[in-house]
Amino acid sequence: MPDVNIAAFRQEVRDFVAANLPDDIREKVSRYRDLDKSDYVRWQKILQDRGWLLGGWASEWGGAGWSPIQQLAFLQESGIAGAPMIIPYGVSMVGPVIQRFGTAEQKARHIPGIVSSDIWWCQGYSETGAGSDLASLKTSARRDGDHFVVNGSKMWTTEAHWADWMHCLVRTDASGRKQDGISFLLIDMQTPGITIRPIVTIDGQHHTNQIFFDDVRVPAENLVGEEGAGWKIAKFLLSHERLSISDTGPKLRLMNRLRDMNRAVQADPHVDPMLKATLARRLADVAVEIETLRAMEHYFVEGWDMGRPQGADASILKVRGTEILQKLSILATDLQGVHAASHDPDHLHRTADRPDTPAEIASAMTHQYLYGRCWSIFGGTNEVQRNLIARGALG
Ligand SMILES: Cc1cc2nc3c(=O)[nH]c(=O)nc-3n(C[C@H](O)[C@H](O)[C@H](O)COP(=O)(O)OP(=O)(O)OC[C@H]3O[C@@H](n4cnc5c(N)ncnc54)[C@H](O)[C@@H]3O)c2cc1C
Repeated sequence: MPDVNIAAFRQEVRDFVAANLPDDIREKVSRYRDLDKSDYVRWQKILQDRGWLLGGWASEWGGAGWSPIQQLAFLQESGIAGAPMIIPYGVSMVGPVIQRFGTAEQKARHIPGIVSSDIWWCQGYSETGAGSDLASLKTSARRDGDHFVVNGSKMWTTEAHWADWMHCLVRTDASGRKQDGISFLLIDMQTPGITIRPIVTIDGQHHTNQIFFDDVRVPAENLVGEEGAGWKIAKFLLSHERLSISDTGPKLRLMNRLRDMNRAVQADPHVDPMLKATLARRLADVAVEIETLRAMEHYFVEGWDMGRPQGADASILKVRGTEILQKLSILATDLQGVHAASHDPDHLHRTADRPDTPAEIASAMTHQYLYGRCWSIFGGTNEVQRNLIARGALG
């Protein structure tokens, strides 16, 4: 691959987002409103037209074949510039799995829909009683002729209500070591017997769901890899998320917002000088922490680029990244002063026909704070990540 001038590429990404992000999406992002599925699809199609949706995919799959450092540069710059995230369930999760482990038919059937963003996926891993201890999952798939019959329930399935398909871990054998009886199935969400129950989280929004499977008949051709090889595939899939794990772009954007909010506080003659000094110090502290996270992330990713083993790097980035994001979101609410308790979930969906009131601005920040509680839970809790760091890095 030719050498890439990363500084020039960063500028190219900034220019591209400035010129091509649709105004209505930019407006929603800048006001910290919720995006709809159609907003994500629209942006992903714009990226795909530019050849940038599949940055990490190899060229044989229509990808850009970027190095990890170039992928990181893209994620950071587009995040700072306010572009929506690329929804990972197709592009970063099941896509690479199908490329690596899928049959020729699975590749031909599923890859085009991921590339075009016309087919949307969700991830059915967690269950009640099988989150951190994922290998204890119980949703069963019993072979019946040329089908599997799936029964059980998946918990916390994000965006299942938007999804056409689920990539799902199921138990096909309960007799031996628990990791050995797990298989990886692709399930059409329109199949009879699937019920989606919305879960409204603490922020008052519907992001996630519980899914029930009652005698759901899934064609055996939808099994990826060997029966019983699901655990190995699940681990492969998780390793593909390492680059977005510390998510520095959106943090740097939020940090810029906090700087503006702090400037307004510092200029307000009614705010107590001691309070001003404390808020300014907290902002400076978190600014230092973000910069150290950015430096650490760059060091790790450069190492992966040169073939250095990952070890506990991704776990360290996950823990530090989520701690800093939660700190930023707490500071964001404190900077709202008397409006800090405002929270109106409906506001997140309102059209931007006038400037936001102070209470509405505060409400958007409160939403960041409330939703931010789950950042240290999903993708493996911070407690479990610390166990991995203890084992992998400290010995
Ligand atoms: C908003 C949201 C969206 C999610 N989206 C998805 C999704 O799309 N698909 C999906 O499959 N899953 C999803 N999840 C599930 C997520 O991955 C799990 O919630 C997570 O793995 C934790 O599992 P659990 O909730 O069962 O908690 P548990 O595993 O029961 O943990 C409870 C507490 O015990 C601690 N704990 C558990 N084991 C240990 C240990 N060995 N050492 C120290 N502490 C421990 C945990 O850290 C936690 O504090 C989502 C979760 C949330 C909150």
